[in-house]
Amino acid sequence: MLEIWVVAPACLPLVLRRCHTCASERFRASNKFRVNANHKLIDAWLLARCTGCGETAKLTVLERMNVRSVRPELLDRLHANDPGLTAELLQDPFVRRRNRIALDWDDAWRLDTGESQSPDGEVIDVSVRFAARIPVRPARLIAEGCGLSRAEVERLITEGKVVSAVRLSGKLSGDFTFTLKR
Ligand SMILES: [Zn+2]
Repeated sequence: MLEIWVVAPACLPLVLRRCHTCASERFRASNKFRVNANHKLIDAWLLARCTGCGETAKLTVLERMNVRSVRPELLDRLHANDPGLTAELLQDPFVRRRNRIALDWDDAWRLDTGESQSPDGEVIDVSVRFAARIPVRPARLIAEGCGLSRAEVERLITEGKVVSAVRLSGKLSGDFTFTLKR
């Protein structure tokens, strides 16, 4: 039987960035934007707060753009501090590169396994789908989906009872399938 599991954001990921005030390396996006229009040029930043000391960092969204070249819908959302916009911008590789940030998704995702729970001793094929590019360790994901410990899943992988066309070590952030034989 085939099960479909979906990995989806549960909340905003943390922003990995070194704080210049304390030793923390994680910022929490605030869902607040600052917009500065000067004549025809506009700058916009997403504000984030250090999880250690509360220091505010500004992540560049628009840099000296001509106001007319910015979509009005985007301007509206910036002015409205649209929380959905924060999630979209953090997932935008261009925004991440420009600000030299990475994301920490460790406690920011959830796994939806649907209703079907296979009884022990059955072979199941699972198709894992990602609603966003969230890097997740397959062993942790399988452990959560099957109600097993990480160690048990690692053992099942070593014993060849969890098989996949992709490498199950390291992290994955794109759709994959695996077969579990218990
Ligand atoms: Zn700090």
